[in-house]
Amino acid sequence: MNTGCRIEVRGTVQGVGFRPWVYRLAQETGVGGRVRNHSLGVTIEAFGGMRALDEFVNRLRVQAPPPALVRGLELSAIPPESVDSFVIQPSAHGSDRVVSIPPDLATCPDCEHEVLDSGDRRHHYPFTNCTSCGPRFTIATDVPYDRRATTMGPFEMCKLCQREYDSVADRRFHAQPNACPVCGPRLELLTDEGLPISTSDPLITAAARLVSGQIVAIKGLGGFHLACDATRPDVVKELRLRKHRDEKPFAVMVRDLAMARTLAEMSPEEELLLRSPERPIVLVKAHERTGLAPEVAPGSRMLGLFLPYTPLHHLLLEAVDSPLVMTSANLAEEPICIGNDEAFRRLKQIADALLIHDRDIVTRCDDSVARVIAGKPTVLRRSRGYVPRAIELSRPLRAPVLACGAHLKNTFCLADRSHAYLGPHIGDLENLEALDFFESAVARMERFLRIRPEVVAHDLHPGYLSTQYAESRDESLKVAVQHHHAHVVSAMAEHGLEGPVIGVAYDGTGYGTDGTAWGGEVLLTELDRFERLATFRPIPLAGGDTAIREPWRIAVALLADAYEGEPPVGTDLWFPDIAEKRLRVVQQMIERGINTPRARGVGRYFDGIGALVLGKATSSYEGQVAVAWNLVADSQERGLYDFGFDTGAPDEIDLRPLVRGVVADICARVPASVISARFHNTLIEATVRLVENAASAVGRLPVVLTGGVFQNPILAEGVSHRLAERFDVRLHSKVPPGDGGIALGQALVADAIARKRM
Ligand code: ZN
Ligand code: ZN
Ligand code: FE
Repeated sequence: MNTGCRIEVRGTVQGVGFRPWVYRLAQETGVGGRVRNHSLGVTIEAFGGMRALDEFVNRLRVQAPPPALVRGLELSAIPPESVDSFVIQPSAHGSDRVVSIPPDLATCPDCEHEVLDSGDRRHHYPFTNCTSCGPRFTIATDVPYDRRATTMGPFEMCKLCQREYDSVADRRFHAQPNACPVCGPRLELLTDEGLPISTSDPLITAAARLVSGQIVAIKGLGGFHLACDATRPDVVKELRLRKHRDEKPFAVMVRDLAMARTLAEMSPEEELLLRSPERPIVLVKAHERTGLAPEVAPGSRMLGLFLPYTPLHHLLLEAVDSPLVMTSANLAEEPICIGNDEAFRRLKQIADALLIHDRDIVTRCDDSVARVIAGKPTVLRRSRGYVPRAIELSRPLRAPVLACGAHLKNTFCLADRSHAYLGPHIGDLENLEALDFFESAVARMERFLRIRPEVVAHDLHPGYLSTQYAESRDESLKVAVQHHHAHVVSAMAEHGLEGPVIGVAYDGTGYGTDGTAWGGEVLLTELDRFERLATFRPIPLAGGDTAIREPWRIAVALLADAYEGEPPVGTDLWFPDIAEKRLRVVQQMIERGINTPRARGVGRYFDGIGALVLGKATSSYEGQVAVAWNLVADSQERGLYDFGFDTGAPDEIDLRPLVRGVVADICARVPASVISARFHNTLIEATVRLVENAASAVGRLPVVLTGGVFQNPILAEGVSHRLAERFDVRLHSKVPPGDGGIALGQALVADAIARKRM
């Protein structure tokens, strides 16, 4: 007997070859009917015998092709129809909600082969893609995801491409950005004056220029890169000069895994992460000798590697046959460039040539950054390849929320019902360019996701641009969320925990409810509130934020505090490069408490002690000294220093004994690697003590570890290892532990608080 069934499919099912796959499945199982895309997902109406329908639905559930992600199937019976075929219907437009624009996908192996195959009609064509790969989010102008709603709209397909696009059996059936050398986007190479360089193959000419030592701006997927030969010290140094970038490491793109292995020691997990379809920059430890210019990552063995993720990259790396620096094209802290004119305007001073093309980028999307921590891939910067994939929430929200995120490393979050969507990496919200990018990205995501927020969450700090933006919005319900509360809830959300939990949030800084800078917090946390159980003894930051760039100031403050103003060795001996006058001024500031806000960030101890032991007075980018301090640690050393534990409300960890231990070790010429290990061991021990103490007061609740300091694998692994036996310990993985993950927590806290007010 013929029966009818409507199947609503939710998940990432558009732009990933899902409908053709459904079509083929229908053919195989002998089911008739139709399938269509709409802004909510995909609807299938299927007709056939009971057994055929059964098999059809079962295979839908379990066999979807890899780039598709079926989140749910909803079945309902409908009146049977006698149909003798199965058809793919054109997309329906509707005002109903949400989307499934997938993230941009790295070139698949099939497309890679075609591009490198001299017999293929797409040989050397840098914009080759198919239903399993290619640009998506960054070229989408609207939903549903359809060719005319992308920047491929203006390109009319040639006969061959159209045939592929229309043929259900083809790998490019309804591949929206489908293109070939005849009908698709084209490359052009420009001089730094914007004049076209005449060449039959702009890509090969660009490659030759890279080999000859030039800096070339290259239009990629989510923005422009600045590229140069990573093995030439003179060239990399020149790039640093022109880009005004001191010592912050550059990411390096390598041709393939084999080339990656020549540069770094990688675990199987790290290799897997490197090859994942999201293609993040993966932080790995470089070999002692790599052949890379030392200027790529001055003074650091931490290397950010990534593999090609567009055909253009594959072809370029093939032609250059050497690792390339590929860094976001911008000046210092500005957002990454996306438009051709903008690129020319902003990059002509930096690049010797620009490799551009005529497919527009709509949404900026920086490269993502990830690292293996405690054996698991952990996203540190979540952007291209991940955005706008949803994060599933364990309980639906009461009303749609916009969370404006943190001040530094900003991302925002739009959340509705059971899904939260983190936006692309915006960067530090410290200038108007970044604010512009933030505002336009929010507006676009609201449109894509058809989310109209009713609640706006923002940081507690009244002075942040994000707070001012939140206040300027029309929604009536605004909720201020404390920074570390948001960190903890973001980790809870990732694991579907609704609290209470013992949240350990260690970072550099975050505005506390008392108006001071917090950052070493143990919080008994629920979604709508928290109780501060413990913190760290504050450090006076002479000059405020200046002390973060000049960690010698933190070291001086730590010494003054630990020895009550009388360190055993003259402070001037620790930092011979710092003029005595400046040293005195800073000492006086600390003594008298002038312009020295007190901060409790655990990250500051890494900066201060690292600076002291490594003799590194200044930090040219955030976290530089902390990362160096982490990298030198000797993994065999088991020793640790004393620390104090002062009970109170909240309890306080006192690290003055640690400072005195470190000084004694330095005087006894104990190697930095041993001191670093002892320092880490002490922090692990102190954290374990804090958690156990908290548990004795509030019970053995799950423990979440969050905040930028837990990007440090020694600490993250050490603490979770020590607590694992007695506690359920959770670390971040899909959402950054640092401030890039905060928006998710803000959204959930705001929802929990808004429930009570609505
Ligand atoms: Zn492909
Ligand atoms: Zn074509
Ligand atoms: Fe933070």
